[in-house]
Amino acid sequence: MIFASFPKAQYQAYRSEIDTAIARVLESGSYIMGAEVKAFEKEFATHIGLKHAIGVGSGTDALTLALMALDIGAGDEVISVSHTAVATTAAIRFTGAIPVLVDIEADYFTLDPACLEAAITKKTKAVVVVHIYGQAANMDAICAIAADHGLKVVEDCAQAVGATYGADKLGSIGDIGCFSFFPTKNLGAIGDGGAVLTNNNAVAKSLKGLRQYGWQDDRISHVTGMNSRLDELQAAILRVKLRHLDTDTKRRRAIAEQYSELLDELEVDIPKVRPGTNHAFHLYALQCQNRDDMLTHLKAEGIRAGVHYPVPVHLQPAYAHQTTLPRTEQVALETLSLPMYPELTTGEIERIAATVRSFSKA
Ligand SMILES: *Cc1c(COP(=O)(O)O)cnc(C)c1O
Repeated sequence: MIFASFPKAQYQAYRSEIDTAIARVLESGSYIMGAEVKAFEKEFATHIGLKHAIGVGSGTDALTLALMALDIGAGDEVISVSHTAVATTAAIRFTGAIPVLVDIEADYFTLDPACLEAAITKKTKAVVVVHIYGQAANMDAICAIAADHGLKVVEDCAQAVGATYGADKLGSIGDIGCFSFFPTKNLGAIGDGGAVLTNNNAVAKSLKGLRQYGWQDDRISHVTGMNSRLDELQAAILRVKLRHLDTDTKRRRAIAEQYSELLDELEVDIPKVRPGTNHAFHLYALQCQNRDDMLTHLKAEGIRAGVHYPVPVHLQPAYAHQTTLPRTEQVALETLSLPMYPELTTGEIERIAATVRSFSKA
């Protein structure tokens, strides 16, 4: 059986380093907000190329806290996409703001700048850009529109750690970058975790308060804060994984290249990479017309593929939106994510590609 993602393989690959890191935390006696979190925040901020990284409890919390730190809340509108993990939209709602969901570009499946511009009203305060699958959104166009209208730009990089846009890492282009360390993500913890990154000192200070009871250094609540901290064990594990991230990202790109060579000229559409960017290939998403039959065919051959995502957010009961988003709805019917993780072997990739080909010929 080949799984769509397989976080245990990464534990096995870095087992001795991870075991050492875990033992170090257990022996330290400091389990929350200690030396590991501090060190990870510094190392991760340097990796992305920003001044501040604030470790938090999850990617969803990272997005929620980022919006709160930018003073976005009740009565404000925040524009984002429907083609995303539902967490993106949930985070907007948690702040009290109104999510306004718009359509995506046909080729890259990220926020369509023209749809962004059309959705702006007097109440719009921010845009949450999702770099879906690890593909960079059109940041030049989006940031220009945001600047024209005084909107904050929040980057949802949950799937995009390791991706670049021109010379910059994703997460360093907008006002704030939000990351998830869910175990299957490219930089995955062994539990929940997330981080918010920014160059803005005041926003960083506000984030540090908001993640912990609204405290500042005096341990007095100056605002109403949450409890959303990255813990020492996860931070220590993430420090190990971060050392291997560039190698792992290169391996993901090599796997994607191998898939694309083996699947070219079929009736499935292989992913395009936006010019001037490096894709992080959190997911390798094909578009295919008989998607559900393809899934069944792969499963019968012992290959688990994923669907990201079968129901667009604007069609889910909690977020039901009086709108139609034709490209988003089309992708939901056709998208299929082939197994993707750095530990996949060349032989497994060949077997997966051959199985896709045999269906397309049938
Ligand atoms: C995983 C993910 C999130 C949420 O992250 P959690 O750590 O699970 O809360 C948000 N946005 C996107 C695009 C994701 O893929």
